[in-house]
Amino acid sequence: MVQSVLVKNVKTGEISEMKTEGVFLFVGLSPRTQFLKGLIKLDEAGYILTNESCETSMKGIFAAGDCRKKLLRQIATAVGDGAIAAFAAEKFLEGRE
Ligand SMILES: Cc1cc2nc3c(=O)[nH]c(=O)nc-3n(C[C@H](O)[C@H](O)[C@H](O)COP(=O)(O)OP(=O)(O)OC[C@H]3O[C@@H](n4cnc5c(N)ncnc54)[C@H](O)[C@@H]3O)c2cc1C
Repeated sequence: MVQSVLVKNVKTGEISEMKTEGVFLFVGLSPRTQFLKGLIKLDEAGYILTNESCETSMKGIFAAGDCRKKLLRQIATAVGDGAIAAFAAEKFLEGRE
């Protein structure tokens, strides 16, 4: 079990000990979208640019969830994106028939 963590102040170099019984790791966010580079539009950080229907810059390709450029990346927004993208994809396929 974790009993404490050592915290380094990166400005002063000072190291202090913080007692805790748990640790929540948050090491940053990095979208795995490199394989889409050159195919659809991404922002400078690699997030996929979409419109409100979750359509990307390429017709027939939709994006949902944390890989999209958006304000809030949480389960609630990922689930909403999934519903929108699925519905938009269905409409797209209907239009092709
Ligand atoms: C540490 C942490 C804590 C969080 N806490 C909360 C919280 O308390 N409440 C909350 O609402 N949200 C929280 N979130 C955010 C939440 O987890 C995400 O918003 C949500 O999981 C996004 O769902 P997603 O399906 O878009 O992406 P993910 O859940 O990341 O799923 C993407 C999946 O795609 C897979 N994948 C990646 N590349 C490929 C590929 N090339 N081929 C096939 N599969 C691939 C990955 O392995 C992964 O399984 C937290 C996130 C983190 C990192």
